[in-house]
Amino acid sequence: MEPDAIVVGTGPNGLAAAVTLGRAGLKVALYEARETIGGGLRTESLFDPEIEHDLCSAVHPMAVASPFFRRFDLASRGVTMLSTPVSYAHPLKDGRAGLAYRDLEATCEHLGPDGERWRRLMQPLLEHSQELVDFILSGQRSLPRSLSVPALLASRMLVHGTALAPRHFSTEEARSLLTGVAAHAVGRLPSLASGAVAVLLGHLAHAGGWPVPESGSARIADALAADIVACGGTFHTNHHVTRLEELPRAKTVLLDVSPKAFARIAADRLPLRYRRALARFRYGPAAAKVDFLVSEPIPWANPAVGQAATVHLGGTQAEMYRAETAAAAGIRPEEPFVLLVDPAAADPGRARAGRRPVWAYAHVPNGDAVDPAATVTACIERYAPGFTDTVIHRRGISGAKYEAYNPNYVGGDIGGGAMTLWQSLMRPVPRFDPYRTPLHGVYLCAASTPPGPSVHGMSGHLAALSALRREFGVRTAPDIGPR
Ligand SMILES: Cc1cc2nc3c(=O)[nH]c(=O)nc-3n(C[C@H](O)[C@H](O)[C@H](O)COP(=O)(O)OP(=O)(O)OC[C@H]3O[C@@H](n4cnc5c(N)ncnc54)[C@H](O)[C@@H]3O)c2cc1C
Repeated sequence: MEPDAIVVGTGPNGLAAAVTLGRAGLKVALYEARETIGGGLRTESLFDPEIEHDLCSAVHPMAVASPFFRRFDLASRGVTMLSTPVSYAHPLKDGRAGLAYRDLEATCEHLGPDGERWRRLMQPLLEHSQELVDFILSGQRSLPRSLSVPALLASRMLVHGTALAPRHFSTEEARSLLTGVAAHAVGRLPSLASGAVAVLLGHLAHAGGWPVPESGSARIADALAADIVACGGTFHTNHHVTRLEELPRAKTVLLDVSPKAFARIAADRLPLRYRRALARFRYGPAAAKVDFLVSEPIPWANPAVGQAATVHLGGTQAEMYRAETAAAAGIRPEEPFVLLVDPAAADPGRARAGRRPVWAYAHVPNGDAVDPAATVTACIERYAPGFTDTVIHRRGISGAKYEAYNPNYVGGDIGGGAMTLWQSLMRPVPRFDPYRTPLHGVYLCAASTPPGPSVHGMSGHLAALSALRREFGVRTAPDIGPR
């Protein structure tokens, strides 16, 4: 039987699209290039059959906060989110460290002279957290009900995303703590887009926290896949789609692929104007990742850092500005910004006696082909003397190799496109409905569409709602909650 809808790519957005379509009563067929589904949600053993590593995403503030996942309700699907008392930490080379406790009061106390300023930054955001998240994670094409949340966001972006940022806090702990979050935007610092990221992720550290799913990110993909299968959806793995013509007939096709891949898959069927617009889409710096199997907890010079599963290793605010701006300009920084995740800090079940998974990635220029293992290990060693001696195995993946692993990571850009303010709003091309393409029934739904990167499922969900509306006349969003 012919499917009603086809989804190409089974990352969180492809899966969220299929859940939405399936719950609307459509028969959905999913095609995935790799042997396993999940895209950025894969968890596998790499070195030791008992230790599982998250191949991409590991920490999920957005999977707790996003409107799609709030309705999907991971908890009632058996996915347990585990948090550490410190959502993220930022050690400095002199042994000091900034700590973002889940508890805002504890953070303010820890930040001493900057505590009050941190509270004034975060408290109003926390009071409007849900509206703020819903606004940022929308398709960004409709006016918000009230202007107070956009105004709140803009006021903070104008400080923390501009040259005003260095003057806001008086201590390096507070300055670097927030800048480490801004660096998740992976691009020039400071920038308005990085300011928005700092506001969004920074306040979530004190709301739902920055949790890891018990047993790894793949549990999120499993929960989504179970819902799809329960609605009659079918998965076709090991099928790299190279042309639209190779797919069975269906009323709609949703593509969880990059603009670069779409231009290839749709080939000469696309109008020249749209093809040119896709070609203008810019990709950001790369993540060059190292997976480690270590023999013991990380020997942080400042032991308080071990209370966090996420650790930013970027040095001072000025050092991060230099490194991130260099990587964005195509210059490999001598000391790149490194983001480290130690999932067993939140989920002790991920470790076994003498064996523990850790991952860390450095921000490097797009397409960089250098194996990052040595640089990243040396960086961790700087903040955790003796770390190198605990490494049992390590595997480095350069930015260039990341694209071979997943074509959505163009040149190693794991954000699906450079996070400039323009591209945050107008991805992948400036259109009123960014998911719809000029091809009848064909939609884009990857992180290269609004609201952009992270595991929130919203690009897939919103693309599916657009397809339901236009191709099937369904105007009410289906119930995606547990049955
Ligand atoms: C190292 C790393 C760490 C990260 N850490 C976090 C984190 O901690 N928290 C967080 O929220 N986000 C994190 N992210 C980002 C997050 O993983 C992505 O934003 C998210 O996975 C994007 O989802 P997606 O569905 O758009 O695409 P993807 O997850 O990239 O999935 C796309 C899927 O489509 C398949 N595909 C592509 N082209 C084709 C084709 N032509 N035919 C068939 N199949 C195809 C791919 O194989 C892949 O399975 C991280 C990413 C990486 C790489």
